[in-house]
Amino acid sequence: MLATGCPLTRPSPVQPHAPEPSLDGPAQQPPPTTKQSITWARAATPADVPGPPPPGTWRVHMIDVGTGLAILVQGADFTLLYDAGSNDPDEKPARVMAYLTAALGPSGDEQCVGAGVPSAARRRIDHVILSHPHQDHASALDLVLHCFEVGDVWDSGRVNDAVFYRDFLYAVAEATGATYHTASPPPDDRRIAVKGQVVTIPPEVAWQSFSEGDEVTLGADARLTLLHAEAKGHADPNGNSIVVAVDLGGARVLLTGDAESGERADPSAPLGDVEEHVVTHFPALVDADILQVGHHGSKTSSRRAFLDAVSPMVALVSAGPRRYRKTRLPDAEVLAALAATGAAVLRTDEHDGACPTSPRIGADKGAGGCDAWVVTIGP
Ligand SMILES: [Zn+2]
Repeated sequence: MLATGCPLTRPSPVQPHAPEPSLDGPAQQPPPTTKQSITWARAATPADVPGPPPPGTWRVHMIDVGTGLAILVQGADFTLLYDAGSNDPDEKPARVMAYLTAALGPSGDEQCVGAGVPSAARRRIDHVILSHPHQDHASALDLVLHCFEVGDVWDSGRVNDAVFYRDFLYAVAEATGATYHTASPPPDDRRIAVKGQVVTIPPEVAWQSFSEGDEVTLGADARLTLLHAEAKGHADPNGNSIVVAVDLGGARVLLTGDAESGERADPSAPLGDVEEHVVTHFPALVDADILQVGHHGSKTSSRRAFLDAVSPMVALVSAGPRRYRKTRLPDAEVLAALAATGAAVLRTDEHDGACPTSPRIGADKGAGGCDAWVVTIGP
């Protein structure tokens, strides 16, 4: 078991306080544990979505996509999108695009902004990471790659023989000037067979492999470290989830995708699989202030030993109404384990029946659109 407490902690005589959430957010706000101030607020309408932060401040947005995941990390000098997908059939690309339009501005043609005003220019997203090839993480990424100028695309390289993954790869192939990164080395012929077709990544898109422990500079005082990079070896793509630690000034964000410990079990069960791997190999780097809770709060993930190692101050749970096999996530046992850590638990599924405010972000139907959360890391 790791010692609890964050390596970035230092005593501070004046502790900033988080503001009251705009709706019925968590009543308890734990004391800050890093040298950065960390505050959070719900984004229920487009007007609640802030623009780019000033230098020395960063924002982590958990976009309310319904049943899926999309995390936007913003600095003054970079933008990173970790996953963008939903299993909800009604509006799977619309919420992400509406949120990105609110946060970054309109970008691209009429496919990109829905009812908004198309923009001849394409805005930039420096890094797009697909944690693993499941639709609830990937369904909007082909549109994101079409609508934005993307610098680097990160993908485990685990092929899921499905149309959405093929569409993602076609969009990568058209992202001229981008660099495509996979955990497996690029094949000499640059061809990927998926769902009855072959996608060729052209030379205009650079293709490189990455490894665990690789560090990437994002911007001033901001970097990411890859903690899990594996293209093969798992029957379920969840096991290929790219896990990254994102250091923003003195605060750290841990993004886990659908990383698991094993079969559904009580959080008291032993660590296993990807959670055990990253705790064993990167014990210091998993100790984070902000945790994207693995697999939508499923009992496959968030073992107590993992949560003890992370010791988060803020736990982000992205979930929606569609069931995973027979289960609607998050699981109550995981929510209880998160609460026991003292973390503030922020969820996207609190108003999936009906939004109490309007207009919501994206289409006015289906789940999602009014429970996004913006976590601000300030000086
Ligand atoms: Zn998922």
